[in-house]
Amino acid sequence: MFDKVLQDIYTESKLQPKIGEIANYIPELANVNPDKFGIYLTSISGEEFGIGDVHERFSIQSVSKALSVALAYSLLGEKIWERVGVEPSGNPFNSLVQLEYEKGIPRNPFINAGALVIADMLITELKNPKEDFLGFIRNCSGIADINFDYKVAQSEKDTGFRNAALANFLKSFGNINNDVDEVLDFYFHQCSIAMSCSELTKTFFFFANQGLTSSGELILNQSQVKRMNALMQTCGFYDESGEFTYRVGLPGKSGVGGGIVALLPKQFIVSTWSPRLNSNGNSELGMYALEQLTTKTGMSIF
Ligand code: GLU
Repeated sequence: MFDKVLQDIYTESKLQPKIGEIANYIPELANVNPDKFGIYLTSISGEEFGIGDVHERFSIQSVSKALSVALAYSLLGEKIWERVGVEPSGNPFNSLVQLEYEKGIPRNPFINAGALVIADMLITELKNPKEDFLGFIRNCSGIADINFDYKVAQSEKDTGFRNAALANFLKSFGNINNDVDEVLDFYFHQCSIAMSCSELTKTFFFFANQGLTSSGELILNQSQVKRMNALMQTCGFYDESGEFTYRVGLPGKSGVGGGIVALLPKQFIVSTWSPRLNSNGNSELGMYALEQLTTKTGMSIF
């Protein structure tokens, strides 16, 4: 069934006007062809369907935040919520303002401030933080050569003044325990990880499979997975998480590299890549394609 639906959606998507701009505030990201486009779906029963540029790796950027939170959650349990909240922010992902009112407790782990606090937790918990995080992703996906894109990480380090401001601001509230530069270095590397649509669906398999990877390893328990999916539903799409929920009706996470991963628990994981972003930083065509998917199949969590 998915074969035909995805084929139709791909064809229709290709006919859509080319709206949106590629992210260029990280110079290295601006080198990507803006018209790349792919959709890949992996079902829990093991079927796979892909069309377009689904095997080409791209910078997953903020999609990595779902994975860093999952790792911190698996290591520390409910304690992580003492330092980061679970409320949608309604503000841009890199906003500083709310932190002042919330006394250094970021509203959720998917805005940059929250992801920096999660990075700080991982640095404290892991022996070799960057390598161990990569190892976690390789383990979840079963793909041994997933890696950082060091050029992207360096490019972001050279220009990430706002993230540096956020990390220092958090430190002033006592919500960063490690060296600010180390936290930023970890964060820039996690965002630089390169993966394809096909690889993203395999990595996110456990979110749709009650915490179990496709090889049967338990990453999170059932309650933790429920909470992570709830967070992706309410906070996964910057300040248009409401819009994504309204139009698509699936939990997921987007990144400014143009990638989106979304999932229907116990059914499937789907990933799209199209680098043209709308004004909120979400992939314009990716959102369109996913809206078509849940509309045509009637398969959403609502
Ligand atoms: N590394 C990017 C930043 O911090 C991530 C942005 C994103 O994908 O939301 O600006």
